[in-house]
Amino acid sequence: MKCPFCGTLDTTVVDTRINDEGDVVRRRRRCSRCDKRFTTYERADVQLPLVVKKNGARVPFSRDKLRASLELALRKRPVTTEAIDSAIAGIEERLLASGAREILSQQLGELVMAELKKLDKVAYIRFASVYRNFEDVDAFSRVIKEVSPGTGRRKANPPPAGT
Ligand SMILES: [Zn+2]
Repeated sequence: MKCPFCGTLDTTVVDTRINDEGDVVRRRRRCSRCDKRFTTYERADVQLPLVVKKNGARVPFSRDKLRASLELALRKRPVTTEAIDSAIAGIEERLLASGAREILSQQLGELVMAELKKLDKVAYIRFASVYRNFEDVDAFSRVIKEVSPGTGRRKANPPPAGT
């Protein structure tokens, strides 16, 4: 399998997993030249679903766009590339496992939000704010409440006395 980053053919499989349904084989591969990692899926000839946009247009699922959205939401947040990769892989797995031919862009957005929520709360709010456009104030405060339960978020540790 050719490395998608540098094009070398010298890549090795570092991990192989089969999903619970037994219909998707997922392989983690490492490039021995540039050391980047990527994931490949093996499945009976079934494609990732088309994404149905709000205006009804259908566009192919784009991992690049998905990554760009995640990276934008996670900008300057302490989240590793590996974690982003695995979030993307998780979304793709769910899409593949669903077997759906089409997915509403809204539903894709929900999947992204679910992954962001696990990764980083700040990024989650960022994405949700853009994604939901805060059409109403209630929506915004709902999101805020979801990620910050309770009121006393700050538990200040008083500096040690003495010395
Ligand atoms: Zn490479």
